[in-house]
Amino acid sequence: MRPTHVEVRLDVLAANFSAIREAAGSARVMPILKANAYGHGLLPVAQHMERLGADELGVAFLEEGIQLRRAGIHTPVLVLGSIAGEQIPLFLQHDLTLTAPSVEKLRLIDEAAAAAGRRARVHLKIDTGMERLGQHWYTADQLLEASLKCRQVEIAGIYSHFANADAADLSDARRQLERFQEVLTFYEKRSLPTPTRHMANSAALAGLPESHLDLVRPGILLYGVYPSPECPRRIAVRPALTWKSKVAYFKVVRAGSGVSYGSTWAPQRDSRLVTVPVGYGDGYFRALSNHSQVLIRGQRHPVVGRICMDQTLVNLDQATAYNGDEVVLLGTQDDEAISAQELADLAGTIPYEILTNINTRVPRVYRGG
Ligand SMILES: *Cc1c(COP(=O)(O)O)cnc(C)c1O
Repeated sequence: MRPTHVEVRLDVLAANFSAIREAAGSARVMPILKANAYGHGLLPVAQHMERLGADELGVAFLEEGIQLRRAGIHTPVLVLGSIAGEQIPLFLQHDLTLTAPSVEKLRLIDEAAAAAGRRARVHLKIDTGMERLGQHWYTADQLLEASLKCRQVEIAGIYSHFANADAADLSDARRQLERFQEVLTFYEKRSLPTPTRHMANSAALAGLPESHLDLVRPGILLYGVYPSPECPRRIAVRPALTWKSKVAYFKVVRAGSGVSYGSTWAPQRDSRLVTVPVGYGDGYFRALSNHSQVLIRGQRHPVVGRICMDQTLVNLDQATAYNGDEVVLLGTQDDEAISAQELADLAGTIPYEILTNINTRVPRVYRGG
């Protein structure tokens, strides 16, 4: 195996899941597993969540749902993304729950289900202010009315998504929640049973308990990372992922000798440098060049010069390291830690992208299972 790998702690994921369960109270929990389970590996994480008793699973795309079914996952799977008409038979064949974001798509689902002689499991999607996917809250009655007329469709849920639940000011999120509550009065007014209602992502799970409703959809929090620094740290979770490599080469660079492409950095005195076999081709952002640090022997050391596709240089200055010593790019070593938020700040992005950017060529190793 490559010296560069990602270590995922299944025991930490389990602890995070139970902390989330507790915070969710009576609401059910739908772990979100899109984008290779936020870089943690789709199938091992899905199997682990199923064993832990996750009520449902959420993914972005049909293909991810099919992968779960092919791996023998039986838990209900909601595909959160939009659907193309020709995909509907595949949803039905693999017993995946569809998202209906408009009357038109809902009718397509109903027709395709009739043609296939099956019932489709559907969640209605209401747009309360994200302006991404869903029937606007102010015309939602049309979608709910239409759903009552579908013969081949089981409306198993109704949901919306927050645009600003990770902000310090939650007034916008509260307004979205009110709009969603308003839409849901449709069922009471007609004395109809309300389908499973859900809206809370990680940020709302932690910061807006009144949004938990019947089910919560935690993504990043499950992996032990908070969505933003503004989000209140109310749920005790820990990062489950450590990104490791090993020292591959050691040398002394003379004062003034430019290092790596473009020679953007040179030591001021003769310095010890190591080469680490990981680069932007693995998803270690090139924007971190001359900015980030890594952990070696429990100490922080700076990344110097441009990060290459497959290799990165680290300045030990006068410290010592040997070939084969562990290098931590993200995660904990001894008493030091590098967080996804730290790398995100340095690269000008968010922790989500730091995690999902770790390329599939980096092997995932599972521990604590
Ligand atoms: C990605 C996603 C989530 C999870 O978001 P986190 O911020 O990672 O918790 C929940 N719901 C929908 C619709 C999503 O697309």
